[in-house]
Amino acid sequence: MIEGLSWRQIPLALVIEDAGNSVLYKTGDWKTHYPVVDYELCINCGVCWSFCPECAFEEVDGRFVVNRDYCKGCGICAQECPKNCITMVEEEAE
Ligand code: SF4
Ligand code: SF4
Repeated sequence: MIEGLSWRQIPLALVIEDAGNSVLYKTGDWKTHYPVVDYELCINCGVCWSFCPECAFEEVDGRFVVNRDYCKGCGICAQECPKNCITMVEEEAE
């Protein structure tokens, strides 16, 4: 029980009450590696964008750029890139 709250006042667990609120939670802070794109080789095909399970790639000025706040470091983008121009780099210890 939460101190001072009756069971009727405790928020529901495991329920998403507001659709689209995942953008509020920066879930990329536990990754060990992140993708780096070699834009000399990239053909802007968008495969990385379409395969990323976290929707971490964004299109910025015609390029697909990873948003590290949401990337979880799974490496699927690097695996699927048809030009092999994504390298997974170790996250710096902070
Ligand atoms: S999948 Fe590879 S080639 Fe295609 S846009 Fe992404 S980084 Fe560029
Ligand atoms: S490493 Fe995984 S989570 Fe991060 S951008 Fe690539 S596919 Fe998305």
